[in-house]
Amino acid sequence: MAIVVALVLRTPDNGWGWTIWFVSAAGVAVIRAPFARQTQDNTITDDRQGTGESMLLALVGIAGGLVPLVHLLTGVFGFADYDMPSWSYAVGAILVALGLWLFWRSHADLGRNWSVTLQIRDEHTLTTTGVYARIRHPMYTSLLLIYAATPLVLHNWIAGWTGLIGFVILCVARIPHEEAMMRTHFGEAYVRYSERTGRLLPSLSTE
Ligand code: SAH
Repeated sequence: MAIVVALVLRTPDNGWGWTIWFVSAAGVAVIRAPFARQTQDNTITDDRQGTGESMLLALVGIAGGLVPLVHLLTGVFGFADYDMPSWSYAVGAILVALGLWLFWRSHADLGRNWSVTLQIRDEHTLTTTGVYARIRHPMYTSLLLIYAATPLVLHNWIAGWTGLIGFVILCVARIPHEEAMMRTHFGEAYVRYSERTGRLLPSLSTE
């Protein structure tokens, strides 16, 4: 609450773009909370988190949450500001709206198969319906949309971009491991599923 008051008070320095960033960060937390509760007593049968994975998650938290927040509260990266026309806020808001919708749908479709890191639970099933029917990683697509909005609403080379860069690194490092883990557990079913879906964008194949 104190943070929101501080952000409102700093609006004359930061402009209104912070509200769109704030809605995206709060939206992610609010959408995720019930799923985090629902999955907290899952029995995990394969955990591939590892140190690299934990470090990447911490990096994304710092790059996507802490860096913009500290900048908005203190203006510390003010030397790296840039100008953008006002349509950038509208495009950013559209990306956030699309991203939050897809983030919510992918949690709803994964249900109890969701986990913040690379894990398989007992009774894990392969989700191939809803937003998973054509995309293998719709949740990562949704977060890419949300992080891609930040440079459009926080016009700063540091606070606007670190989250997007951090999340792209996470995706590049994680997706091959995740797909290998899924192939180990679901075998031929995952191979066939991969053939008819796209990684981050919908597959156009009609099969
Ligand atoms: N990469 C997916 C899911 C992210 S959550 C996405 O971006 O939408 C990460 C966990 O989801 C992984 O640890 C894995 O256990 C699980 N998972 C990923 N794809 C899945 C699928 N198609 N069906 C069931 N579980 C899946």
